[in-house]
Amino acid sequence: MEKAKILVVDDKPENLLALQGVLRGDDRDILTATSGRSALELLIAHEFALVLIDVQMPDMSGFELAEMMRGSDDTRAIPIIFVTAGAADNSITFEGFDLGAVDFLYKPLSERIVRSKVNVFLELYRQRRLLQQQVLQLERFASIASHDMREPLRMISSYVTLLERKYGTTLDDEGKEFIRYAVSGAKRLATLVESLIQHARVTHGELEITKADCKGVLEEVLQDLSVLISEKKAEVTYSNLPILGCDRPQLRQLFQNLITNAIKFTQDRPPRVHVDCAEEESSFTFRVEDNGIGIAPTLTSKIFDPFFRAHQRDRFGGNGLGLSVCKSIVERHHGKIWVESNGTDGSTFCFQVPKQPAHESARSHVT
Ligand code: ADP
Repeated sequence: MEKAKILVVDDKPENLLALQGVLRGDDRDILTATSGRSALELLIAHEFALVLIDVQMPDMSGFELAEMMRGSDDTRAIPIIFVTAGAADNSITFEGFDLGAVDFLYKPLSERIVRSKVNVFLELYRQRRLLQQQVLQLERFASIASHDMREPLRMISSYVTLLERKYGTTLDDEGKEFIRYAVSGAKRLATLVESLIQHARVTHGELEITKADCKGVLEEVLQDLSVLISEKKAEVTYSNLPILGCDRPQLRQLFQNLITNAIKFTQDRPPRVHVDCAEEESSFTFRVEDNGIGIAPTLTSKIFDPFFRAHQRDRFGGNGLGLSVCKSIVERHHGKIWVESNGTDGSTFCFQVPKQPAHESARSHVT
């Protein structure tokens, strides 16, 4: 079993030694730091299951260290146990929890309580890791399965289409209808398989960050969608699009999915879509606004879930993966995505991404 790492931070070496003794175990490695600064260095270099921090330290207090940990994506989720002399002092407890701390140990320390608290956190950490591994395996499986489905599916599609072309005229109406169902089913399955492959690629593929001219990227997307745009008599306009440090193909995919939806989910009037971007101090917020059928406010968070559809498939088609691909793309760029709609009068899809190019954390590659 992989050993879980615990970091113990205390300015007094004798306290570190004592805690090391109490926490010792075959299933864990215990690393120590005598200041907030050296703790931060270790936090960058290792993946920790848990950090125990002495609250009273001279240079950087335990709370300050925790605040710095909360400020970084890599350390935000690590559970913290504060070790404090201020027994059950509510203001200290509150201050800690406000920072997102998870627990406290009060001096004088009881070996039994220290051990059992730490064990609970380690168990939670192991379960979370196991779950992550299982999700990853499942996603890998889906990715491989969808790749393998491509070829036989292509065969079914082409032979049914050939059948229709060659023998369509000799079949009676019922026969023609059967073939139509088969062709449409194969097409739907092919789109689903392509979407699954795209989903896996976006979630696990490597990001290549470059400076992308968003205006150029959007113009390429509009070119690709020109048939749909003219069929639906849509008008797509844009303003203030910046140069953005991002993975260009993923940005293109993001625009493509949002604009396709903006044109697709409309009723009687021709689609009008406007793409705009506002520059903030450290981020850009993009808005893709349409005049379509809107989304009920109760569904606005669910629509980013895989396979979720807010409207009937018979009317609009689709497999409910487009927005979950968008969400993955934005999140891999350390941003967030949401939708604003009053439920009837169009929707505005917004995403905010940091100006600083996305910093990549190590991920496995599936595709
Ligand atoms: P799909 O378009 O394949 O159904 P998506 O994941 O792209 O899947 O979208 C999920 C659901 O969100 C859609 O089925 C639709 O109900 C809703 N939706 C997405 N974009 C819009 C939009 N611009 N206007 C109204 N509803 C939308």
